Amino acid sequence: MGVKVAKFGGTSAADAIQIEKIKNIVMSDPERRYVVVSAPGKRFAGDNKITDLLYLCKAQIDHNAPYDQVFQVVHDRFAAMALSLGVNIDMAEKFEEIKTALRDNPSADYIASRGEYLNAIIIAAYLGYSFIDTAGLVLFDKKGKFLHDETQLALQAELSKHERAVLPGFYGTYPDGRIKTFSRGGSDITGAIVASAAEADMYENWTDVSGFLMADPRIVKNPRAISRLSYMELRELSYMGASVLHENAVYPARQANIPINIRNTNDPDAPGTIITAEEDERDESFGIITGIAGSKDFSVLAVYKNMMSTEIGFIRRLLSVFEDYNIPVEHIPSGVDTVSIVVAKEYLEDKITDIIEDFERKAQPDSIEVFEDMALIATVGRGMASRPGVSAKLFTALSESGINIRMIDQGSSEMNIIIGVENKDFESAVRAIYNAFVN
Ligand code: ADP
Ligand code: ASP
Ligand code: MG
Repeated sequence: MGVKVAKFGGTSAADAIQIEKIKNIVMSDPERRYVVVSAPGKRFAGDNKITDLLYLCKAQIDHNAPYDQVFQVVHDRFAAMALSLGVNIDMAEKFEEIKTALRDNPSADYIASRGEYLNAIIIAAYLGYSFIDTAGLVLFDKKGKFLHDETQLALQAELSKHERAVLPGFYGTYPDGRIKTFSRGGSDITGAIVASAAEADMYENWTDVSGFLMADPRIVKNPRAISRLSYMELRELSYMGASVLHENAVYPARQANIPINIRNTNDPDAPGTIITAEEDERDESFGIITGIAGSKDFSVLAVYKNMMSTEIGFIRRLLSVFEDYNIPVEHIPSGVDTVSIVVAKEYLEDKITDIIEDFERKAQPDSIEVFEDMALIATVGRGMASRPGVSAKLFTALSESGINIRMIDQGSSEMNIIIGVENKDFESAVRAIYNAFVN
């Protein structure tokens, strides 16, 4: 018998009704032996995610403001879930333990992690599976860097003791035992890590959409679903902003060569999207591009210097400024005498004047222009490399929609074209590209 690891996201585990669906899904396939869960997410538009409420508790504590009310909301949701599901767990005891910890103002990571911790305990009891805490198994070094090999060993040893188990996503521990979380949406990463440790034949990622769609459904109405994706395309799309799967969930699955299947908890019969290493066997009718993803709030520093291309070390000197400020650089599209440096806006905020001064001192450019409030959009697809005219089609579509392209960056893999537009044009640009290639 094979092994499947099934990760259920926030909306899939938002309340007792959703957890019943999880049970039906898990019980319908005996290979679904290990289950990874997020904290309860939104039950309806306008509802709160448990994780957000927990971060809010932390903010209240930090400001010496009362947090009891917010914490009570968290308590009541879990208590109601446990009651409706009829599980025999002493929730009062669990909450007392967390309340005691809150008195000492614990880290934001600890508080946030309690959402997945409690949810996994309830779901394990409801499924009749063991509960395995990921604290002490998903390991980080003291600087917070994830330790892949050590985690694999620790998880393998623990999983081998349990035929079937539920594990909380999102967190692990520092060497001293303190809780450390991944970034938001990180239960996807835990799912991939557990799949790898369990040597699973499939990593199922159950969410609230029937697979990876060609564009964000909040921007394009009813986008076409993608039936197959390669790990490379997935990584491009998720890195660029397709939030359906955390970008760092790709590596562990890819390394262990485990296919990922994105599925819909609310439509379990839909096949969803299968992600593998497989090279293209897609039928021609599918289209030239695989998908479109993007996000807002970047800044572009456009640097011009006459004869730049012959000046040795120019780009290195520019980049060293970002290194000095510990700012990650997103893209570096360049022309003959120009180079643009794209960074997430949040990193620049109050540093921009200092950075420009340092640029001038270290590299003496002729001019520097800063474009703020830019959005990046990636059009991704393995089919693009072999097809001429793709960029022409893309640019025509944008210009016909009256959208100004501020930056173009075509990766050398020819698997994507990234364009920069103003934040305000983001949604219409995504729709224009989608309509040009899909209809
Ligand atoms: P979960 O709580 O299950 O982890 P997420 O909210 O993290 O789910 O991810 C699923 C959501 O991702 C969808 O509801 C959808 O709004 C959004 N999304 C963004 N881009 C895409 C895309 N290309 N395909 C599918 N969903 C997308
Ligand atoms: N609960 C965490 C979050 O909201 C992790 C996750 O859902 O994957 O970000
Ligand atoms: Mg998610």
